[in-house]
Formats: sequence, C-alpha cells, structure tokens
Amino acid sequence: AKMEGRGTCRSFEPGMDARLQERRQLESELVLGVKKEQFVLHYQPLHDAKTSQLTGFEALVRWSHPRLGLLPPSEFIQLAEETGVIDALGEWILRRACTDAAKWPLPVKVAVNLSPAQFKQQGLSLQVAAALAASELLPSRLELEITESVLLANNENTLNTLHGLRDLGISIAMDDFGTGYSSLSYLRSFPFNRIKIDRSFVSLMCESSESRAIVKAVAELGTTLGMTTTAEGVETEDQYRLVRENGCTDVQGWFFGRPMPASELHALFEQPEAL
Ligand code: C2E
Ligand code: CA
Ligand code: CA
Ligand code: CA
Repeated sequence: AKMEGRGTCRSFEPGMDARLQERRQLESELVLGVKKEQFVLHYQPLHDAKTSQLTGFEALVRWSHPRLGLLPPSEFIQLAEETGVIDALGEWILRRACTDAAKWPLPVKVAVNLSPAQFKQQGLSLQVAAALAASELLPSRLELEITESVLLANNENTLNTLHGLRDLGISIAMDDFGTGYSSLSYLRSFPFNRIKIDRSFVSLMCESSESRAIVKAVAELGTTLGMTTTAEGVETEDQYRLVRENGCTDVQGWFFGRPMPASELHALFEQPEAL
C-alpha cells in the first residue's frame, strides 16, 4: 500500500510542476502580450426581440497568442485578474471597442465586459470618459456589462461607481443574471439599464416549464423596473420564439450570429433585416 501511495504521489508531482511552469510561462507571456497588444475583439450582434432589428454588438476579447493561436477568454481572463494585468488589458479593450464602434455606419451600441477587478479601480469613470473622448463615441452608444459578484460588497463605493458611470451618459447591464448570488435586492438598489438573462435558463426553455417561468418572471420584473431584458445564448428559432413570447426585449446568440472580427461586420450593417 505504501508503495502504491508513493507511486501515486510521484506520478502526481511532475504533473503539478508542469502545470505550474506552464502557468508561469503564460503569465509572463500575458504581460508581454498586453504590452504588444496581441489581443483582438470579436463582436456578437444584439437584436431587438420584437423586430429582430440589429441594436448593437457585444465586444468579446480573444488573445492572438504567438505560440498557441487564438485563445478564448476562458484561457486567460482569470489569470489576468489574478496577476493584475486586467487593468491594462481592460483599458485596451475599452478603448478599442469605442474606437471600433465610432467607425460603424449605424449608431448602434457597443457592449463591453468589465471584470470585477476593473470595477474596483479608483479612476474607472475617468478612464471611461477618456475612452469616449478619444474615440468621439457618443456616451449613449456605450454599455458596460458587470456581473453580480461586483455587487457582493454592496457598499457605498459600488453605488457611487455605478452612479458615476451613469452620469457619463452610458448604460449599465447586469450580466449572467441568475447564475451567481443573484439577489432581487440588487435590482432595486443599483441603477441598471438592462438585465442579461443567462444562457443556462434560455437553453432549457424548450424542455423545462420552470426555466420558462423564470425567464418570464425576470422579464416582467425588468419591465416593471424600467429595464430592458436580453436573453443570452439563443441558438434556435424555437428558443427565439419562447423568449419573445415570455417578454424578453432583446436577444443574443448563435441563431442571430456568432462573435466575429470587426472586419466582417459590414455584411450585417448592409442587411440589418436579414436573419
Ligand atoms: P459573457 O459575457 O456571458 O459572453 C457571452 C459568451 O457566450 C461568449 O463567450 C459568447 O461567445 C458565448 N455565446 C454567445 N452566444 C452563444 C450561443 O448561442 N451559444 C453558446 N453556447 N454560447 C454563446 P466567450 O467569448 O468565450 O466569452 C466568455 C466570457 O469571457 C464572457 O461571458 C465574459 O464573462 C468573459 N469575457 C469576454 N470578453 C471579455 C472582456 O473583454 N473583458 C472581460 N473582463 N471579460 C470578457
Ligand atoms: Ca457579457
Ligand atoms: Ca453573459
Ligand atoms: Ca457568461
């Protein structure tokens, strides 16, 4: 038994070492990558649920890694948060998204994800104001998406930051609603313009009446509180019909379009009605 135990241990440790080494390497590559601007933003279309008209795009970051190819955010955002690189990366994302959107032929919105660490930065409002000024993007065209974890602290700072951002004339969305420590009191206490209902509810709507009931309740609550509600992850026509019937005002998902490079958006601008 002792031998087995040791054997298990031995085969485990090299794995750990390798993973740790890989993490360290990725960490230093990430710092360099931000310096060298090795990132690209892909844009996923947002549509009005009733008319199916294009209303904007969500910016989704990818890392064009010199060794590993195009990496999704799941491969590096957490690392960026843990190492503090997210501040510089987040500012780059914000500026790039504003600059791209300012060039679009239609005055639709651009939605930018903010990580909790970014949200806690002292000069966030100033940073956003500077990005708007540099790009000459109208504030009404920028929306920031934050997750519930930001609100856990539920203190005065959080509220001040949110009001500071709203005062710039931009809008704020609560992302992934229903997944975290969702609390309805957040919706009452914080000045959101939009609730984004997490894909996990939307994807179950066809088979689960409970999921339909939840989506319907959140959409109604949003409407009552003067917020728009976006259904995330709409992949099929049936899901589109169900989220529309249950009161969601906006839709996003593969049924309408996958995230794509900025250079490929022109097709959507030329035929905004085409689905
Ligand atoms: P999110 O903000 O909830 O973004 C939506 C994610 O769902 C995106 O994944 C998108 O590609 C994916 N998605 C959209 N429609 C569908 C669909 O119909 N079906 C399925 N299965 N998936 C769909 P992505 O691009 O891999 O991003 C994952 C997460 O990474 C984002 O979730 C967001 O939390 C984070 N992220 C992405 N870009 C940024 C960024 O610029 N800054 C920060 N801080 N986080 C980001
Ligand atoms: Ca988002
Ligand atoms: Ca989301
Ligand atoms: Ca998500």
